[in-house]
Amino acid sequence: MVKLAAKCILAGDSTVGKTSLAQIFRSDGAHFQKNYTLTAGVDLVVKTVPVPDTSDSVELFIFDSAGKELFSEMLDKLWESPNVLCLVYDVTSEQSFSNCSRWLDKVRSQAPGIYLPGVLVGNKTDLAGRRTVDAAQARAWALSQGLECFETSVKEMENFEAPFHCLAKQFHHLYREKVEAFHALV
Ligand code: GDP
Ligand code: MG
Repeated sequence: MVKLAAKCILAGDSTVGKTSLAQIFRSDGAHFQKNYTLTAGVDLVVKTVPVPDTSDSVELFIFDSAGKELFSEMLDKLWESPNVLCLVYDVTSEQSFSNCSRWLDKVRSQAPGIYLPGVLVGNKTDLAGRRTVDAAQARAWALSQGLECFETSVKEMENFEAPFHCLAKQFHHLYREKVEAFHALV
């Protein structure tokens, strides 16, 4: 039984539902949950996620920033040494989707040369009549960027756990690979 810890950063435009997603994930389920307010406008959600088909688990430290600024010193500090990325857009906002590539650039510049597992999350699927971002279009972009892709509705409590479970699974996989590479050396 291995217990891992991973720093997860939440990226995406303001109002896409990042805080809602982190909070609903935090408040659900029987696992031990903690919520910390680090400084004004920064929340840390800590939650343990079991890795399917193993007895291992990953404790996710989800850093949620209220900062609207893509380029701010606070964000630079907060996003130091991430392990996994949760990139969120709003399916009713074309702009929030197109900005994802800017957020991704920003995150990757933070951890140059490091493989960062990540998910792309299209939120607010309940607003079906106002949808402007096609699921297939999002999927194609996510694929091109090596991100797993999900759609959620935090409002309807739909599919909100899947992105985090996927991140835990990806992080765990990376860990297994490292262990095997290490064993191959000795
Ligand atoms: P953040 O700025 O990315 O952290 O976004 P928030 O979590 O603060 O959410 C912004 C607004 O979107 C709030 O009014 C939420 O209630 C609303 N919201 C979040 N998720 C959903 C959703 O799935 N559907 C709808 N209709 N509204 C949502
Ligand atoms: Mg927020």
